[in-house]
Amino acid sequence: MSKSTAEKQVPIKEGMIKLPASPKEQPSLLGSKCRSCGETYFIRRSRCEQCQSGDLEHIELSRRGKLYSYSIMYYPAPPPYKPSDPFVPYGLGWIELPEGLAVLSHLTENDPDKLRVGMEMELILDELEKDEMGNKVMYYKFRPVK
Ligand SMILES: [Zn+2]
Repeated sequence: MSKSTAEKQVPIKEGMIKLPASPKEQPSLLGSKCRSCGETYFIRRSRCEQCQSGDLEHIELSRRGKLYSYSIMYYPAPPPYKPSDPFVPYGLGWIELPEGLAVLSHLTENDPDKLRVGMEMELILDELEKDEMGNKVMYYKFRPVK
């Protein structure tokens, strides 16, 4: 990991993740909040689905939330996720955030005995792959708070 500062990290998708600018900073998920009706969204957008308003503000979502529901997946996720080789089952869950929305996320934990609905989860970033420029393509996961 000592080389990691020299390699640039890029988000898997624009407007989805705020990468930490330094190792001391924490990542966060990006979203939008409608100034007209108050609806919040994960991933930045320019129009509200609820009221069609174009008056949205950019927000950073909470790094912690509660596990709302989950499953353990025994087959590979569709692209752009790259399955591990050999494939290892993984957890997939909905994380309920204090902003009043739920985010679908890969989980670090794939043992159902270690997951339970309502447990506190926190955001981490993981490297998906290297792009053609050698950048680390980062995406998000949630892990149980110890
Ligand atoms: Zn709205």
